[in-house]
Amino acid sequence: MSTDVEKLWELQSVLSQLGDREKQMSQKPESFAAVDREYQAADQEMSRLTQSIDQIAKERRRVDGELADQQELLKKYQGNLMQVKNQQQYAAAWKEIDATRKHVKELEESVLKSMGESDGLQAQLDARKAGHDELKERHDAAYAQWQSSLGDLRKEADELRKKAEGIEAQIPPRLRDEFHKIFRQRGGIAVTRVVNESCTGCRTRVRPALYQQLNRGELARCEGCHRILYLEKAAS
Ligand SMILES: [Zn+2]
Repeated sequence: MSTDVEKLWELQSVLSQLGDREKQMSQKPESFAAVDREYQAADQEMSRLTQSIDQIAKERRRVDGELADQQELLKKYQGNLMQVKNQQQYAAAWKEIDATRKHVKELEESVLKSMGESDGLQAQLDARKAGHDELKERHDAAYAQWQSSLGDLRKEADELRKKAEGIEAQIPPRLRDEFHKIFRQRGGIAVTRVVNESCTGCRTRVRPALYQQLNRGELARCEGCHRILYLEKAAS
């Protein structure tokens, strides 16, 4: 029959092994990480391209509106030209027509330019999309392979979890809670061994009175780090 502290010591060892397995399971293997990076980058690039195309289309709608207004204005000025009464009015009307024509030309050039840009971006997006299915397939296959390779680790982790539960069931609840609190707060070490009458967790010397307590199999906490002290019984 083991003492409470021996059970805690074993629990800590099981939990530490479980932590190792969980850490291993959460680490992406390079075989998946590489294709995952590629996949995420392609995804980002596609949304960047889509955004740029939308932005250009929005600007295009604005320019189209302005162009229609200016063309309307141009018609009006050309109409005015028919009604001029003198040379001065004639010159003024022509000045307006010239300025408006220039503006219309600029807007038309800007439309052409944005169409060219948009076509270029659309071609890039189409190329990305064409390769996307194949990339997604590679990505999903690598993920599935990684997950299936975790089978053994999962099994081990499940067994360790069951083992930990079994040990915990034998420990008084208050002590168990104290253990978990220290375990969380002190880097996964709640129970430390006493070697040469010192705590191996923080090297604080264990006072003789405390040492005798430990020798009698009583629970004692380190006065330095407040962890639960564990004195291994010499083999008899
Ligand atoms: Zn200590």
